[in-house]
Amino acid sequence: MLGNDLLIVTGALVGSSGAILSYIMCKAMNRSFISVILGGFGQTSSSSAAADPDQAVHETTIDEVCEELRNADSVIIVPGYGMAVAQAQSGVSDMTKLLRERGVNVRFGIHPVAGRLPGHMNVLLAEAHVPYDIVLEMDEINDDFPDTDVVLVIGANDTVNPAAAEDPGSPIAGMPVLEVWKAHRVVVLKRGMATGYSGVENPLFFKDNTNMLFGDAKESIDKLVSSLRG
Ligand code: NDP
Repeated sequence: MLGNDLLIVTGALVGSSGAILSYIMCKAMNRSFISVILGGFGQTSSSSAAADPDQAVHETTIDEVCEELRNADSVIIVPGYGMAVAQAQSGVSDMTKLLRERGVNVRFGIHPVAGRLPGHMNVLLAEAHVPYDIVLEMDEINDDFPDTDVVLVIGANDTVNPAAAEDPGSPIAGMPVLEVWKAHRVVVLKRGMATGYSGVENPLFFKDNTNMLFGDAKESIDKLVSSLRG
């Protein structure tokens, strides 16, 4: 192999690309390269209010979410790893088309480490034919949440965790996140109350303006699309 120049150049390109991606990932998680390699995310205790067993979540229904989407002027969709697991992107694309036809301003907010590799969400949305110009990076859209009627969080968890911004004792403190909780209404689509990759509880689920739409993301999105068509 060392005698073949092409293999040496290819190996160098693959190695340096990996290093660049790792750097982007560590920066987006606000963690050092060593701590990412050694793991340990979420092993320290958090003073997060989400640990309080008395807190209740507000559960919502397909009909209620459909009504909120119909009445909205602006909607931001925040996808995460759960959208990839559920393979919900095609339904998300259909829903986006339907809402845009009704005059709703629909955009996507993409966290740099949403999913399990950089660019994961962008690839899935592009494959599902979501227009590029409405898919925005975190820095481009983070200031717009206070003026947004509805945010749909589809299978994202760590990347929308307010503890990162509000709780200095949280294991993810300092990680830049999409500040979805500043919108008028947040609807979180996930199957249950499980934590994300970091293992850290998410106080977003207990906020007054957050409603939980429990179930597999693909099933929920498909039902929403049918309701919006009806
Ligand atoms: P998370 O991993 O934080 O959360 C994903 C959520 O999806 C879970 O809480 C889960 O909840 C839900 N989910 C799983 N399956 C389904 C389904 N079928 N339908 C609906 N919901 C589902 O996702 P994020 O994208 O927000 O964050 C990515 C995490 O991965 C970050 O912590 C990041 O640091 C880490 N990471 C990212 C890398 C990258 O380069 N992108 C690389 C390495 C790590 P429930 O089970 O209740 O449904």
